[in-house]
Amino acid sequence: MFCRNCGKAIDDRAVICPHCGVPVRQEAPRNKLGFGLCIAGFVLSLLSLWLGVYYCVASIVAIVLSAIGMNIAKKNGDSHGLGTAGLVIGIVSLVLWIIVLAAVASAVNAIL
Ligand SMILES: [Zn+2]
Repeated sequence: MFCRNCGKAIDDRAVICPHCGVPVRQEAPRNKLGFGLCIAGFVLSLLSLWLGVYYCVASIVAIVLSAIGMNIAKKNGDSHGLGTAGLVIGIVSLVLWIIVLAAVASAVNAIL
């Protein structure tokens, strides 16, 4: 591995860097919140495609979760592909919902 302070190659078992004397810290467990939110947003965006009455709300929540998850994941250097997918699917399902609502509204207007 490489020293975080001076960047020189050091033994994987080293506790202190032999080059600069700085203690070698093990990789801290990464915050998986961003990745989790990406997954939640992605799953919710898929659910929102057939949630019927809750369509619109689920889409908006999916978009928000995906966007937040993507930002956190990006900062942490985690993969945020699912967040992007959740964001896109969430927006698509929201647009579909608006089209359906507009169609229903105009149909109702035509009948009345
Ligand atoms: Zn060093």
